[in-house]
Amino acid sequence: MSGNADPGTPGKGTTTRARLDRGRGALGPALELVHTGRAPTRAVLTAELGVTRATAGAVAAELEALGLIRVDARPGAAAGSQGRPSHRLAVAEDGPVALAAQVHADGFRAALVGLGGRIVATTPGCEVVDADPAKVLGSVVAAGAELLRETGRRCVGAGLAVPSAVAEPEGLALNPLHLAWPAGAPVREIFTEQVRAAGLDGPAFAANDVNLAALAEHRHGAGRGSRDLLCVATGHRGVGGALVLDGRLHSGSSGLALEVGHLPVSSGGRPCHCGSRGCLDVETDPLAFLTAAGRAPGPEVSLLKHADTLIREHYDDPAVRAAAESLIDRLGLGLAGLVNILNPDRIILGGLHGTLLDADPDRLRAVVADRSLWGRSGSVPILPCTLAHNSLVGAAELAWQPVLDDPLGALA
Ligand SMILES: [Zn+2]
Repeated sequence: MSGNADPGTPGKGTTTRARLDRGRGALGPALELVHTGRAPTRAVLTAELGVTRATAGAVAAELEALGLIRVDARPGAAAGSQGRPSHRLAVAEDGPVALAAQVHADGFRAALVGLGGRIVATTPGCEVVDADPAKVLGSVVAAGAELLRETGRRCVGAGLAVPSAVAEPEGLALNPLHLAWPAGAPVREIFTEQVRAAGLDGPAFAANDVNLAALAEHRHGAGRGSRDLLCVATGHRGVGGALVLDGRLHSGSSGLALEVGHLPVSSGGRPCHCGSRGCLDVETDPLAFLTAAGRAPGPEVSLLKHADTLIREHYDDPAVRAAAESLIDRLGLGLAGLVNILNPDRIILGGLHGTLLDADPDRLRAVVADRSLWGRSGSVPILPCTLAHNSLVGAAELAWQPVLDDPLGALA
C-alpha cells in the first residue's frame, strides 16, 4: 500500500493547532458531511457542525492534510449560504480507497471505492462460484489487490457483499441459497484471511448484499435524505430487503432482519428453497421473470442481465409485457405488506425490481396503494436505485466507517 498522510503537518500555526484541539471531535462528522455531499462549501460545513468559522477552517485543513478532502479557495468559488464566496470542499480525487468485493450467483466483482462512494476502478470475474468460499474469496481479493497495484492507492480496509443473510457477531453466511457454499460458512473470517494473505492491511468486513446496497443508496443515491428507508432488490437470483433508520442499517438482534424474500405473495405458487411456496424470492426474481416470459435462461449472459434487457428493449412483446405485469403485481403485494408493517417514508427498488418499476411505475404504485392500509391514505414514494454497483459501494462503506468515525485515529 502506498501513500501517506501525516496528521502533524509541519508548519501548522499554533493558533490553528489550538483551534483543531477544540474541533478534533468534529473531524469525523465533518468528513461524513463532505463524504455524503452535504457540505459542498466551508460555509455550509460551519453551519452544519455548529462551530465557529475558524474551527471549521481548521477541521477542513486537517482533513485535507490527511489526504481525504480537497479545499478549493480559488476566487470565484461558489457562493456560501450567506452569499459571500466560500471555500469549496470535495473528497480528494487521489485519496485513499477501500477494497470492495462482491460475490453473486454468476461470479464476482472487485472494486476500489474512494470517499463519496466513487468507484475508482472495478473488474468483473465471471465464473462458476466454487463450493469452497475460500477459493472464490481468494479470487476476488486477488483481483482487488491487482487494482491496488495498478493504481498505487492507499487502502483503508476491505468490505465484502454476499447474497446471504450474515449472522452477527460471528459473520456467518447463514443461507447462501444461490451459491453452493455450505450454510453457516464463516465468510468474514475467510475474507479476512484472504485479505491478509494478499498482503493488505486494514480491517475487513462482510455483510448481506442488499443491506449494503441500501446503505450506499442512503448515503449517495436514491435514499438520500430519507429517514425510514426501505430497500427491496433482486440479486442475480433471489430477493432481499433492508431498512435504514435514521442513517443506520437496521440489522436486527443478530444481523438477520428484513429477510423479505420469503414473504408469501402467491398462494399455491412456486415451491421455494425455504420450504414454503409462492415467496417473493421465487415469484419476482430474474429466473421467475424469464420463466413467466417463456424464455430459456441463456448460458452466455447472467439471468439478471437477460431479464433486464428483455424488459428494457422488448416491452412491446406481449409475452414479455404479461410476464412483467405478473411480477409487478406480486412485487406490489409484497411491498404493500411491508408498508403496513414498517411505514417507510421512501421505498427504493434495486436489480430487476428497479427495471420493473421503470417499465410500469403507475401499475406498481397502484398495487401498493390498493393493497396496503397506509398506502391508500398517503402515497409512499417508490423510486429505482440510482448507483451502479451499489452493493460494492456499500461494502466499501463498511471499510470506510472506522475512518468516518475517527479520521486521525484510523489513518495516523
Ligand atoms: Zn421462501
